[in-house]
Amino acid sequence: LRHLVLVLGDQLDHSSSAFDGFDPQHDALWMAEVSQESTHVPSSKLRSALFLSAMRHFASACRARGWRVHYTPLEAGVATLADALAAAVARLRPQRLILTAPGEWRVLQALRTTARALGVPLELREDRHFFSTVRDFAAHARGRKQLRMEHFYRALRQRHRVLIDGDQPCGGRWNFDTENRAAFGPAGPPPVPARVHFSPDATTREVLTLVDQRFPGHVGDLATFDWPVTREQALLTLKRFIDERLPYFGHWQDAMWRGEPWLWHSQLSAALNLKLLNPREVVAAAEAAYRAGTAPLASVEGFIRQVLGWREYVRGIYWTQMPEYLDRNALDAHLPLPAFYWTGETEMACLREVIGQTLRLGYAHHIQRLMVTGLLALLLGVAPKAVHTWYLSVYVDAVEWVELPNVLGMSQFADGLTADGRPAPGGPMASKPYAATGQYIARMSNYCSACRYRPHQRTGDTACPFTTLYWDFLMRHAKRFASHPRMALQVKNLARLSAEERAAIRARADEIRRAVT
Ligand code: FAD
Ligand code: SF4
Repeated sequence: LRHLVLVLGDQLDHSSSAFDGFDPQHDALWMAEVSQESTHVPSSKLRSALFLSAMRHFASACRARGWRVHYTPLEAGVATLADALAAAVARLRPQRLILTAPGEWRVLQALRTTARALGVPLELREDRHFFSTVRDFAAHARGRKQLRMEHFYRALRQRHRVLIDGDQPCGGRWNFDTENRAAFGPAGPPPVPARVHFSPDATTREVLTLVDQRFPGHVGDLATFDWPVTREQALLTLKRFIDERLPYFGHWQDAMWRGEPWLWHSQLSAALNLKLLNPREVVAAAEAAYRAGTAPLASVEGFIRQVLGWREYVRGIYWTQMPEYLDRNALDAHLPLPAFYWTGETEMACLREVIGQTLRLGYAHHIQRLMVTGLLALLLGVAPKAVHTWYLSVYVDAVEWVELPNVLGMSQFADGLTADGRPAPGGPMASKPYAATGQYIARMSNYCSACRYRPHQRTGDTACPFTTLYWDFLMRHAKRFASHPRMALQVKNLARLSAEERAAIRARADEIRRAVT
C-alpha cells in the first residue's frame, strides 16, 4: 500500500486535502470507531450516534466510488485511535500516512506519537474547510495588544469579499447588532417553522442500538434522533434554514422561550463541524438571500458574523494557544460542577429548561449556553475544566477546537492572558466576563414566570440564585476588576449596598453553593 489516508469522525468531506492525489489503485482510507472517543469525556449518546452514523455513511459513499476503506467498527472493541492505527499499519504496511489537520490537539498528539513509534511517516495537510488558516490567524494576532473577533472578522470579509459592495461593507456598516437580538415580549414568538427531521435509516438504526448498548449510563435520548448524517441531508437543512429561518435569525438571535428549543437558529453547527457542509457554501447561500431580497441585511450579517467571524476566530485561538489554554483559570475558580447539570433536576426554571433540552436533544442555542448554563457556572466559581467536560460531552456539535474557547474563554472568562502570555484585563475571547443577574434571563425569555425564584431579588428565600451570585461575584472579584475598563462601573455599583446587605448576599451565596455543589 502506498498511502493510508486517515479520516477522522469530523473530517467527512470528499474534497478534503487528505484526498489530494488519492489513487484508488495504490491508496486506501482508514477510519476507526473506538470507545475512548465516547468515554474520555462521557459523550452524550446523541453525539456518539451522530458521529458514528455520519462516519458509516461517509465510508459507504467512498466505497461506492470504488475506494478501499479499512474501517474498524465499534463492535471490534478497540479502545483508542492509536491501537486501531497500530493494528492497521501492521497489517497493511503503508509507505506513508496522510492526515488533514484534526480538530483536537489530543488526537493530533496521539496520531503523531503512534506514527513515530511505528516508524511510518505522517504527512499532515492543511484543513481547507476553513476560510482562514491557523497561520493567517497567528499573523493577525502577532503584535496586537488585544485580540478581538471584530478585527479578524472584518479582515476576512474584505479578503473573501463577503457582504462587500465596492470597497465598503453592504449597508455602510460592519455590524448590525443594534437591530438584532430582540426579546419576544409577553405574546411570545410567532409560529416557529418546523424542524427538518430525518428519520433514521438502517445504518443509523444500527448505530442507535449499538450506542445504547455500549454507553448505557451516558445522557441523551436516542428516541428523538433526527440529525442530518449525510451531505445531502445537511444541504437540505441548509436550504430550509435559508428559506424559512434566516429572515428572522438576527432579530431573535438571543431570545429564549419555554418549549421552543430551535426558534430561528440554523441547527447547522454539527453538519459544519463534521465537515458535511462547507462554511463557504453556507455564507454564500446567506449572502445570496440578502442579494435576492429574501432576507434583511441585519439578519444576514448577524448570521455571517457567527460563521465567518466567531467560528474562524475560535479556531485560531484554539490552535495558537493549545495546549496551555486548557489549563487557564484566570478567575481562580475551583468548585465542582453541580450534579444537576447531568439530570436537569433543579428548581431554577431556566436551568431546568436549558439542561433538560440539552440532555434530550443534544442542542441549545448560543444564549442558552452562554447566559444560562455558562453564566451559573461562572457566578458560582466552577472549575473551568469541569465546565469544559460537560459542554464537550452534551452537545452534538461539540468538537474541542470550537467548544473550548467558547466555554473556557467566552463563558468562564478563564483565558485572561494575551496571545503572548502576558496578563490581560480581558482574555482573547471576551473583553469582560459575561456576568449578569437573573434580570437578563427574565428580559430575554419567559423562563422566570415558571420559577419559584424572583429575578429582581438578591437576598431572601425567593431570591434568584443568579442575582445573588452576581453581586457575590462582583464582591469576590472587586479587586481584580476595580480598574478594568469594562467592569469598573459594575464594581462601583457595589458601593450602593449597605454592609448588612453585602453580608446577607454573601451568606445567601454560600448557602446556594453548599446546596448545589
Ligand atoms: P446558529 O445560532 O444558527 O449560528 C450559526 C452558526 O454559526 C453555527 O452553526 C456555528 O457554526 C456558528 N457559530 C455561532 N456562534 C458561534 C461561536 N460562538 N463560536 C463558533 N461558531 C459559532 N459551537 C459549536 O459548534 N460547538 C460547540 O461545542 C460549541 N460550544 C459552545 C459552548 C458555549 C459555552 C458557548 C457560549 C457557545 C458554544 N458554541 C459551540 C457556539 C454556538 O453556541 C453554537 O455554534 C450554536 O449554538 C449552534 O447552533 P446553531 O447551529 O443553530 O447556530
Ligand atoms: Fe432562572 Fe432566576 Fe429566572 Fe428562576 S428567577 S428562571 S433561576 S433567572
